[in-house]
Amino acid sequence: MGLSKLNQLYRAVILDAAAHPHHKGKITMPTNQQTLHNPTCGDTVNLELRVAGGRIAQIGFTGDGCTISQASASMMADAVAGKTTEEALAMAKIFSDEAIGKQHRPAELAKLGDAQALTSIMQFPARIKCATLSWWALTRALEQDNQERGDTDDRQSK
Ligand code: ZN
Repeated sequence: MGLSKLNQLYRAVILDAAAHPHHKGKITMPTNQQTLHNPTCGDTVNLELRVAGGRIAQIGFTGDGCTISQASASMMADAVAGKTTEEALAMAKIFSDEAIGKQHRPAELAKLGDAQALTSIMQFPARIKCATLSWWALTRALEQDNQERGDTDDRQSK
């Protein structure tokens, strides 16, 4: 599947995230939810968020798929947990811009935390959707929040 060509450190991080995913499972009282499929690979990510006070107070995902998609969801969840929705959207933009060939400075990529390991997957075009699926789900879930919801959770957050 091409993973053998990846930098060894990145490969280890990705395999570990897939084997021991963080934030896997449903959360209590999600405020935002998005399910996305990647039919070319058979990946599904069902993302749940609880946004409170403008921050991602809790995040969880369920679904099945290949190593890349599962690792990406785990790393994405780790990266954005506790961040403001603006920070999380900016991170998702960095990641999905990498997928369409835009380069970022190391300092920008560093904002992604371990998830930057998966930007190296962009050299394998067939796997790009696997890697970006969870970030797209995050973006859609948060944009839905802006469009359809007020900030009713803010007053319960502190
Ligand atoms: Zn996949």
